[in-house]
Amino acid sequence: MIRAIVGANWGDEGKGKLTDLLAEGSDLVVRFQGGANAGHTIINEHGKFALHLLPSGIFRPQVINVIGPGVALDPEAFFRELDEVLSRGIKHPSLVISDRAQVLMDFHILLDTLEEERLGRRKFGSTKSGIAPFYSDKFAKVGIQACQLLDRDLLYDRLQGSLVKKNVLMEHLYHHAPLSAEELTEKYYAFGQRLKPFLGDTTKILNDAHKAGKSILLEGQLGALRDPDHGIYPYTTSSSPLAGYAAVGAGLPPYAITEVLAVTKAYSSSVGAGYFPSQLHGDEAEELRKRGGDAGEYGAKTGRPRDVGWFDAVATRYGCLTQGATACAMTNLDVLSYLDEIPVCVAYQLDGNIITHFPATPDLARVTPVYETLPGWKTDVRGVTDEKALPEACRAYVRFIEEKIQTPITLLSTGPRREEIIRRG
Ligand code: GDP
Repeated sequence: MIRAIVGANWGDEGKGKLTDLLAEGSDLVVRFQGGANAGHTIINEHGKFALHLLPSGIFRPQVINVIGPGVALDPEAFFRELDEVLSRGIKHPSLVISDRAQVLMDFHILLDTLEEERLGRRKFGSTKSGIAPFYSDKFAKVGIQACQLLDRDLLYDRLQGSLVKKNVLMEHLYHHAPLSAEELTEKYYAFGQRLKPFLGDTTKILNDAHKAGKSILLEGQLGALRDPDHGIYPYTTSSSPLAGYAAVGAGLPPYAITEVLAVTKAYSSSVGAGYFPSQLHGDEAEELRKRGGDAGEYGAKTGRPRDVGWFDAVATRYGCLTQGATACAMTNLDVLSYLDEIPVCVAYQLDGNIITHFPATPDLARVTPVYETLPGWKTDVRGVTDEKALPEACRAYVRFIEEKIQTPITLLSTGPRREEIIRRG
């Protein structure tokens, strides 16, 4: 069985917890896109971890963890993260990196940082992890594959070619010292030697596993609204976080993915720039932010306070649609227990009309949310594992949203810990 776990919204929906939970029955866990630019928060018997690049199966000794060719592989971040989990007593995980995965270099991070500074007020809210310059290079065909790190002359040649244009930008646009192909070759050749034991043909590994009937979990990062084609462009990321791309970024037949679990929170949150119609401000926002997530809504990667707001059924229905969700998991249900009543955004108002579709960015920028307000349940539901034990108002809230997003909600998360979960029929 091949299942993708992906985000239905702006990211940070709590995919990490679910991937960790569902990794139990999986033989392989695969990252297929993005890089170290977002974080999954995982709390299990070993403690609390913020994973950025490592697949969430690393805590399970029986799981083979794969970093697919669609991932932005930052060797520095990779080894930093691996060393951190090993130093905290996790057994060395079984881990294979596609030899075709491209390498995110330190100059991608530098270019990302310099560009955000240059943009000033018009910046995109990048995490400055080098993702946009990395994918630009990949599609401009000046990227470097992990396997190319193993050949010093080839690496030097590729770097020299790639640096010609970059150094013009460095000197004349950013007023920064030029980059040296010699220095970079030494640094990344050394990384290549360290990476060598991890590199392999992950496409073969995955297809063999698929043919053998193994269970594979494809782990998405960020969410549907960050997709460069279907999301809130240009406030998107630079690779596709959609389940449809999982087949490509991992290297599996598209028809092999039979389950797409889209994750959404019981309210909305977003970090970074872009539009967020149901966003709250002031005290109401602060209250929800403080109570949200495991220890408040602050980005797992950056520690930035997340924007928070009421559940947006329009955006989430669209998110589930573009993900091709076969089911939905709702997280952070426990967080809403303090509210007397809970608004849910069921439509948008655009130029005096009510719309229920998710419009393209220029229109999205002008919508105002239309709310329906549901009664709160004012009972702590943290840690509840049986749906029948939830207050009726809480169950009604879930049913209401399920109907609005037109996707069955099969999992309800009632706390950040692995065991705080309700499985619905
Ligand atoms: P991801 O990138 O989608 O994995 O999301 P993050 O892990 O960055 O953000 C989700 C936050 O919510 C983290 O702090 C999790 O520990 C926390 N979390 C996940 N599920 C629940 C839940 O059901 N209840 C509460 N209170 N926190 C949760």
